Amino acid sequence: SIISSSTTIPNNDRFLDGLLLSTFDPPSCLSRYQSYLYRKPSPYKPCAYLISKLRNYELLHTTCGPHTKSYAKVTKKGTKNFSKNDCKYLVWTPSNGLGNRIITLAAAFLYAILTDRVLLVKFGIDMFGLFCDPFPHSSWLLPRNFPYWKDHKHIQTYETMLINSSNKNNRSNELLPQFLILNLQHSHDARHNNFFHCDQSQRLLHKVPVLILSSDQYFVPSLFMIPSFQQQLSKMFPDKDTVFHHLGRYLFQPSNEAWELITRFYEAHLAKANEKIGLQIRVYNTHQVPHTTVINEILACTLQHKLLPELDAQKTATSRLKKQTSKAVLVASLYFEYGEKLRTMYKANTTVTGEVIKVYQPSHEGRQKSNNDTHNIKAWTEIYLLSLCDVLITSPKSTFGYVAHSLGGLKPWILKRAYGETIPNPPCQRAMSMEPCFHYPPKYDCRANNTVDFTSLYHHMKHCEDVKSGLRLV
Ligand code: GDP
Repeated sequence: SIISSSTTIPNNDRFLDGLLLSTFDPPSCLSRYQSYLYRKPSPYKPCAYLISKLRNYELLHTTCGPHTKSYAKVTKKGTKNFSKNDCKYLVWTPSNGLGNRIITLAAAFLYAILTDRVLLVKFGIDMFGLFCDPFPHSSWLLPRNFPYWKDHKHIQTYETMLINSSNKNNRSNELLPQFLILNLQHSHDARHNNFFHCDQSQRLLHKVPVLILSSDQYFVPSLFMIPSFQQQLSKMFPDKDTVFHHLGRYLFQPSNEAWELITRFYEAHLAKANEKIGLQIRVYNTHQVPHTTVINEILACTLQHKLLPELDAQKTATSRLKKQTSKAVLVASLYFEYGEKLRTMYKANTTVTGEVIKVYQPSHEGRQKSNNDTHNIKAWTEIYLLSLCDVLITSPKSTFGYVAHSLGGLKPWILKRAYGETIPNPPCQRAMSMEPCFHYPPKYDCRANNTVDFTSLYHHMKHCEDVKSGLRLV
């Protein structure tokens, strides 16, 4: 085991520079105490203000969490008289794959902090075993007796609230419900005009005790557009491209079961390599692009940027005499062909630099099965292992890859989308930020009441390399 005497390790490294509280009970969540042994210290430090916001949030969660009087009052169907001091809640519900779920959960947590709400998560058994409970003395799991656990049919939606509030004959205050469904799904509105990023909508939402969020998007850039949040956000994140890096490492600690899988794999295959290269290969339509095209594209990318050495066709192998260094390549993909082809290639050939390349692929699930617990734990294990690599090459538009690079504090090389047998030129492009991309951001300027490109309003937002209409914080 690589775990050595812990007494010589500075506390800042062990608790991620103060992001994590040091007073949790170790056996319930080993990864919280051991992750620093596997991950290099991050060059990005959370600022004191962010840390104080997290500690304040933890207090709020303890006061208002499940099984408190406040929770019982506010979530009881039909409660009418709310006071200003009552706790308010944001219930996160899952949609889409694990990467999408993780990025929205981080966005939801930031929204909860900004609006003094308590974040509760509706996890089914497919997500139950993935993470440790992130908050001390309490749980973030939505209790099963939550009144609308099974069906959302009778809850008012954000859309109807918007319609009601714009109808001048209604006095909107009287119409504000106790529970409200906030749907920020990408497919929901083709124009992406949900007005969520407008201060006026936030004033309405502020009055609703329980918001039930349904989204698969990293809507953090929207939060940066809301004037009433901007001051707090710039104090919390002086470096705007670190939002997910900090919040993600704070929230998503692998459960003991996942940690066992991660550390076992890491120690068996990655720990001894001089360099760890992560390849995340997500192919959405296998009929459109043959595996060989993708492999050739990856090789073109790794050669161009000197991430992996060239094969030694002449077998000159002069460098054999040099001290051999090794690179481990971690392949994450639904398809076994990728790991197999790369492994065979490097086994059958030497490299011009004499480096030894070893290729490992932890699983090949064949297809996405997002509501299955053993499938999800494999996905989470691979996302986490990728995040421990030194260099990442990821697939375009994949939230699975976003979580890996952002947790790892890495700017990945993003492959270009390939079609047929043509290898895109250039094959890949370096990401300018480690933040996830918001694929379907708003285009509506709330004050000017017209369409706008937000990159012209905010210099810290740029279009994503892999999704031209998307937005990334930089
Ligand atoms: P995205 O669709 O690429 O944005 O990523 P998501 O994570 O939201 O959805 C893809 C899902 O397919 C994952 O959550 C996994 O369930 C599965 N999946 C995709 N690629 C991989 C992979 O490389 N390894 C594993 N184990 N599962 C994968």
